Amino acid sequence: MNTTGSGDDHTTRREFLRNGLRVGGLTGAGVMAGVMSHRSSADDTVWQIDPRKCLCCSRCATSCVLEMSAVKCVNWFPICGYCDMCTGYFMPQVVDKGTGADFQLCPTGAILRKFVQDPYYEYTLDESLCIGCSKCVDGCRVFGNGSFHLQVRHDRCLNCNECAIAKACPGDAFYRAPAKDPYFHFTT
Ligand code: SF4
Ligand code: SF4
Ligand code: SF4
Repeated sequence: MNTTGSGDDHTTRREFLRNGLRVGGLTGAGVMAGVMSHRSSADDTVWQIDPRKCLCCSRCATSCVLEMSAVKCVNWFPICGYCDMCTGYFMPQVVDKGTGADFQLCPTGAILRKFVQDPYYEYTLDESLCIGCSKCVDGCRVFGNGSFHLQVRHDRCLNCNECAIAKACPGDAFYRAPAKDPYFHFTT
């Protein structure tokens, strides 16, 4: 699944991920645990997205009953390559890297790129800006590991009886998840 570098690079990257950047994943898990406490449904299940079925059709951004979708992009750090040339962050035609809006795939500037250690960069999400359009998710799949993925955020979702996005989803990616454990778990 890794996309860059020689065998030595892979070893370096593995060590790097193990020693340094899991903290990002833990931060994400902490956020998830925090929002879980806000909401549970009558039947103790909530709507969630199976990222493996998502076709990046952009309907998550446009079909939610909320003005700003309850679906947000999440970066699953344990499988992120921390790529310098992130195909989920940069426009495909970009050659010279920059962080201006013209270089970025995200239409709302919701992805934050931070240098960590040569040649690694960390990508975090400002969920208040994310509209769930899935452009970065699609881009990440080009060369990356698919660590960018969409999730229904339960600090926002109304847990409608019939989720309008689920009805519109061409990938049949929505499912009912336990309210106590509402986020999709990747296996690494
Ligand atoms: S509607 Fe379904 S296929 Fe389209 S972006 Fe959302 S989860 Fe993915
Ligand atoms: S590209 Fe779309 S889904 Fe990805 S962070 Fe930006 S607004 Fe969210
Ligand atoms: S259940 Fe309702 S609020 Fe939640 S994602 Fe679906 S349409 Fe949006």
